Amino acid sequence: RPLRLPVTLAHTSYDVVIGTNLISRAGALLAPVLPQKKVVIITDENVAPRYLEQLEAALAETGITSRSLRVPAGEQTKCLEMYQKLTDNILEHGIERRTSIVALGGGVVGDLAGFVAATTLRGLPFVQIPTTLLSQVDSSVGGKTGINTRWGKNLLGAFHQPLCVLADVSTLATLPRRELVAGYAEIVKSGLIGDEALFAWCEEHGAAVLDQDPEALAMAVQQACAFKARVVAADEREQQKSNGRALLNLGHTFGHALEAELGYDGRLLHGEAVSIGLNLAFALSVRLGLCPRADMERVNRHLEALGMPAHIRDLSYTFHTQALMDHMQRDKKMQDGRLSFVLAHGIGQAFTTRDVPATAVREVLEADG
Ligand code: NAD
Ligand code: ZN
Repeated sequence: RPLRLPVTLAHTSYDVVIGTNLISRAGALLAPVLPQKKVVIITDENVAPRYLEQLEAALAETGITSRSLRVPAGEQTKCLEMYQKLTDNILEHGIERRTSIVALGGGVVGDLAGFVAATTLRGLPFVQIPTTLLSQVDSSVGGKTGINTRWGKNLLGAFHQPLCVLADVSTLATLPRRELVAGYAEIVKSGLIGDEALFAWCEEHGAAVLDQDPEALAMAVQQACAFKARVVAADEREQQKSNGRALLNLGHTFGHALEAELGYDGRLLHGEAVSIGLNLAFALSVRLGLCPRADMERVNRHLEALGMPAHIRDLSYTFHTQALMDHMQRDKKMQDGRLSFVLAHGIGQAFTTRDVPATAVREVLEADG
């Protein structure tokens, strides 16, 4: 039976439903929360042939009528042109304020469809049906939606909380292994930030997660969503600079630099960059004398045991330290040679600081390359 995880926010609350074969029960699961038995499904070319028919049939069982719109798969789809195509189509067909937008797909579809929902008629009801591990544990919870522009990623967006999230772990059976590993890195991240028990669970069951064991997947999604829901509930709109949502960026300053250096061209998946970034964040914490070396080694061992990218030298591309430094300095608006980072006093003890000397960052990068 599915598990219901409540996400409680200042002005709203909703459930993340986690389990197997949820899409085939979507009619019964969604009927109680939809304001009107009418939805527009937004999905992509990889997900549609696998799950769209099943979803439409399940919705029809409880009298929910649906229409679907497909976008190409991939990060390039999260753009203004696609946003315009979708909103044009929706407005052209006429839409009532109570019709819901349903995102069926990974984080790309979720962010794009969510932004369409947030802005069309100043806000339509929205449902997330995430189908990648990353979207189930990260992007579908928290209400951030948006698209990329030529000036950078996620620069146009809105907070728009869903009515409900259906995380059907059965859909992960068709996910390419690389995508699964990338999503798993965000689960490890959650443990490292503030849930040592989750990290210990990962050490024991991570291999089963990556072998797509449905029970292990459901447990992993449940723990990571619960963690993210707690963080988001405490800092819904990223206003607490010190220790709210900012902590979710553990490993991301380094990760983004690696991604940016490759031009976000898909050679390195976001979660792969984060995996290396987590190691680097611990290495930096150790170098600054803030974290025991044993904790860093434990992180290293776990990532390596599962065959995850752990070091810059594991990648088959050459990175120049200065180029990575430039990305981080641009990202972070360095002041007086000091950078802001999420670091850790140990596993499950992340914190933010604005006081990291650039020289230490450079040394850590050089030692890892
Ligand atoms: P994605 O949506 O591109 O999905 C990865 C690939 O898997 C795509 O090719 C997709 O078509 C395919 N796919 C999806 N489900 C599948 C399935 N069940 N079987 C087979 N193939 C499937 O990428 P993602 O990793 O899910 O999400 C990345 C996006 O999420 C980025 O744009 C990132 O900015 C965003 N994101 C948003 C938040 C947030 O808080 N809103 C948080 C983290 C990441
Ligand atoms: Zn991430």
